[in-house]
Amino acid sequence: MNDITPPVLIVGAGMGGLVLAQALKKRGIPFLIFERDQSINSRTQGWGLTLQEFSTPKLLSLLPDTVGANFFSALVDPTHGGNQRTMVFLNMASGELMVELSVPGRKRLDRIKMRQMMLDGDGGVDVQWGKTLVSYTTTERGIKANFADGTEYEGGLLVGLDGVHSVVRAVLFPEHAKPVRVPVHMLGVELELTRELISPLLEVNPVMFLGGSPTGVCVFYAVLSSPKVNGTAALAPEEHRWHVQVNISWLKADGAPSVPESNEARVELLLERMTKVWVPLRNAVEKGMTSKTVVGSVTIADWVIPENPWDNLDGRVTIAGDAAHTMTMFRGEGFNNAVLDLHNLVQALQEIYSTPTDDASKRAKLISEYEEELRERRPRVVLASRQQCLMMHDW
Ligand SMILES: Cc1cc2nc3c(=O)[nH]c(=O)nc-3n(C[C@H](O)[C@H](O)[C@H](O)COP(=O)(O)OP(=O)(O)OC[C@H]3O[C@@H](n4cnc5c(N)ncnc54)[C@H](O)[C@@H]3O)c2cc1C
Repeated sequence: MNDITPPVLIVGAGMGGLVLAQALKKRGIPFLIFERDQSINSRTQGWGLTLQEFSTPKLLSLLPDTVGANFFSALVDPTHGGNQRTMVFLNMASGELMVELSVPGRKRLDRIKMRQMMLDGDGGVDVQWGKTLVSYTTTERGIKANFADGTEYEGGLLVGLDGVHSVVRAVLFPEHAKPVRVPVHMLGVELELTRELISPLLEVNPVMFLGGSPTGVCVFYAVLSSPKVNGTAALAPEEHRWHVQVNISWLKADGAPSVPESNEARVELLLERMTKVWVPLRNAVEKGMTSKTVVGSVTIADWVIPENPWDNLDGRVTIAGDAAHTMTMFRGEGFNNAVLDLHNLVQALQEIYSTPTDDASKRAKLISEYEEELRERRPRVVLASRQQCLMMHDW
């Protein structure tokens, strides 16, 4: 690897940024990684995440072997090798099974554990916390990133993995960088359920299910940790606990309630929205909530990149992950597509960093090729997720 080429600057140490950092570390490519948050625990991390069969081998090939080998310790439930097996859609008013699709190889993981593993794994990634990118400028050899605290760092190229409200995207596409709100409200809670409360839900599927209802209320339910994972399996059976997430959503329409600010009002709204939901699930939510339960609100938005090439400053700057394809979570594909991006991008970076001198024309060509594939894939996946989201709410 050449010593004189400046590092890759990764902006954002979310799921995608940490995968890229580990992938570059594995390949000996120099990098610096910057994150706006002060630490990994600054924010709640957003529940579980489905890893799809199409991206899993690529993810494992990106990561160092020691991280990959440990990856599935983040499964929410290791039973059946963590495989979700089927995707179940219910009529959420009656509990009646509407559709059950075979989904071989799909696994549900705890995203907090995944992120921590990528931060600490294989000797760890040295994230520069508390660094908010505000702008970047070109230099003769590459690019300079400017941060809100007045610091600046030079690199060979900059990768924006800074999520839904990406600053890198805003600089690249000043006219239309804003994500588009999809007209759906969503609330979510985490609950600790006893065996009695969860039993009817486990009978539907051991990991997750979702569905719509004639009232227009959609519900997504998923296990975040089974007793085997959270340690309560070692206790008496009545002490076993299942940590789960439940999200409910409904279309923004005339007469439909919007999401209030206070937690108290959100609790009230969540329970009101669930009054006509399948009784075992409603019971689980009502009885699983405590005075400490926090009801979160999720903004549903997406963003499709322009179809024509843009000025990537001769390959000095590019984007990946949610910055490149913000999509609704209804197909569970956002992170999985970030993995596809990074698989392609890392191949390009390996090629760029394989020669002993700076070669700006090679960088420009390879980054443009990476972006060409992104432009081809992104509208399809973003629009399919939006369509799935709207269909779920259209009974
Ligand atoms: C409720 C929910 C469920 C989901 N379920 C799934 C699923 O099952 N499967 C799936 O594949 N995907 C799922 N997703 C989508 C998935 O979470 C995202 O696609 C994935 O996290 C994208 O990773 P990322 O690194 O691009 O962005 P993020 O993980 O959002 O990371 C971006 C990082 O950049 C940092 N940052 C932002 N601005 C700056 C700045 N100016 N300077 C420095 N740092 C900055 C942020 O603090 C953040 O840490 C879900 C999303 C939600 C909300």
